[in-house]
Amino acid sequence: PSLAPCTAAPAAKVPGLAGTGRELEPLEAGAEREGTSLLLLSLPDVGMRGAPGPLLPSPSLGLWGGAAQVPTSCACSLPVPHPQVPRTELGAPAIQSPHGGAGPTAFILAVMCPSLSSAASYTDSSDDETSPRDKQQKNSKGSSDFCVKNIKQAEFGRREIEIAEQEMPALMALRKRAQGEKPLAGAKIVGCTHITAQTAVLMETLGALGAQCRWAACNIYSTLNEVAAALAESGFPVFAWKGESEDDFWWCIDRCVNVEGWQPNMILDDGGDLTHWIYKKYPNMFKKIKGIVEESVTGVHRLYQLSKAGKLCVPAMNVNDSVTKQKFDNLYCCRESILDGLKRTTDMMFGGKQVVVCGYGEVGKGCCAALKAMGSIVYVTEIDPICALQACMDGFRLVKLNEVIRQVDIVITCTGNKNVVTREHLDRMKNSCIVCNMGHSNTEIDVASLRTPELTWERVRSQVDHVIWPDGKRIVLLAEGRLLNLSCSTVPTFVLSITATTQALALIELYNAPEGRYKQDVYLLPKKMDEYVASLHLPTFDAHLTELTDEQAKYLGLNKNGPFKPNYYRCWLGAACSSLGGGGGGDTAAYICACVRISSKLSV
Ligand code: NAD
Repeated sequence: PSLAPCTAAPAAKVPGLAGTGRELEPLEAGAEREGTSLLLLSLPDVGMRGAPGPLLPSPSLGLWGGAAQVPTSCACSLPVPHPQVPRTELGAPAIQSPHGGAGPTAFILAVMCPSLSSAASYTDSSDDETSPRDKQQKNSKGSSDFCVKNIKQAEFGRREIEIAEQEMPALMALRKRAQGEKPLAGAKIVGCTHITAQTAVLMETLGALGAQCRWAACNIYSTLNEVAAALAESGFPVFAWKGESEDDFWWCIDRCVNVEGWQPNMILDDGGDLTHWIYKKYPNMFKKIKGIVEESVTGVHRLYQLSKAGKLCVPAMNVNDSVTKQKFDNLYCCRESILDGLKRTTDMMFGGKQVVVCGYGEVGKGCCAALKAMGSIVYVTEIDPICALQACMDGFRLVKLNEVIRQVDIVITCTGNKNVVTREHLDRMKNSCIVCNMGHSNTEIDVASLRTPELTWERVRSQVDHVIWPDGKRIVLLAEGRLLNLSCSTVPTFVLSITATTQALALIELYNAPEGRYKQDVYLLPKKMDEYVASLHLPTFDAHLTELTDEQAKYLGLNKNGPFKPNYYRCWLGAACSSLGGGGGGDTAAYICACVRISSKLSV
């Protein structure tokens, strides 16, 4: 974005921060000086790409009630260069945390200058409380085929998308390659994923490849309103906003599929809710659907259940078990975002804190690694002896939850299972224990059991509830047990780029597959494509890949151009194979099916 000097007169007060549902306090009388402009600073939990939350004072930066005075000469349109505001590598301006943290944890959210405030403004809170379902909105081309929080936020969302594009080289490469051919021409994709800047880059790539898309969110908290607005402004029918009710959630999904004159022929799902909805409400639609691409462990598990029951009526691609998804998204994404989510919601220090991580799969491994690096004392619970042994050999104490529940400061669930943390556990936790979930669905912590008359719920910040027992003990529940990082923090774009590219290739593969290549079953992406996705990301690191010599290729029995590993190799890499024969609960069943399927193909 261009850096235009801001010549706005100092604003008298800050009406509020759209999307946060929170009024900002006006500047103190006399705090304005001539030649200053007003910046709204978003503190850790209000990051540009993060979840909204409270604004706190920071005397050191002249912050008061969320407003800061900076000299006009320093103020300009986003991003803002300012001596006190070093840029992060993503280009987002950042300031020192007012809570004493050293990291760049706060972001400048908006500058009060005419060029921004007239076009799109975070400060326009006039309709904050109105449900998007009750609003009449149109984009600049006159279309109203969307439902987002505030279409006026599109300009900000566009900047977010532009930032994400920088970190998504493979999708941008696919766009370039598709300038001539359109491998998704005629594809009508209905999607249900987290709606973030990264998803927007994926959707716009699918559009560039020839597809028409309609989209809803797979999580009621994770939508970035400004990104949804930018997509709607560019003509994508998007039905999503942050803070949907359960009813809104299904309404949005329905608006994507139940539309006159448009029927999807591909599904891109994350968690299986969209697929489930179509099965339940519009089963006939499957006659035209060529395939389902599913992103999450949970959704894949549902697909395998359908397949087992003989009810899967189209081919499905299990993207979750692609090496390029699981080994990067689940592991690195969580390793990089767990601390962010905890920090933004609680401002806590990690060093010396006792944490129990339930589940030592990919997500659990990522969380444990990050917390260990910060000096936390980490305990792990597992049901699977192989993952349990890995935890032990990585230096973590393997315990049963009951053994540590009274002493730990933080409980994190990463199992994809249900009722891992029960009311009994919650009753026994110590005062101020933080409870959160990194698994896909909100089933891991029995949050419903906390809705009883003797317990008081107190919302202390957006996504942060204190649940208070009659004796005064309180626990800190984050995101009501929904996945923490996507609800309360940002996730690394580069990792999501890898997953998004895998999704795009899976869609292309299923859409273009000749009749008969895929049956009504669940498939893994061919290994060669996994390798292709990885290779598209290597140039970013100036990485130099070694090429096999003819002699070496012959010795290993490989084609010089790959695939370099057999398909079953993915099972050896971690939690997946550990579930073989284990029975297991929740997500592991998907692995069992996947592994067994692969093994049976091998033995044939
Ligand atoms: P995984 O199957 O590799 O790991 C889950 C682990 O939990 C397994 O090792 C399993 O043995 C263990 N487990 C199951 N029930 C348990 C119980 N009652 N107690 C202790 N351990 C138990 O799956 P994963 O890839 O680590 O994903 C875990 C969850 O996280 C899934 O729901 C997935 O959809 C979600 N996920 C979240 C993110 C994110 O960004 N937050 C990213 C990817 C996946």
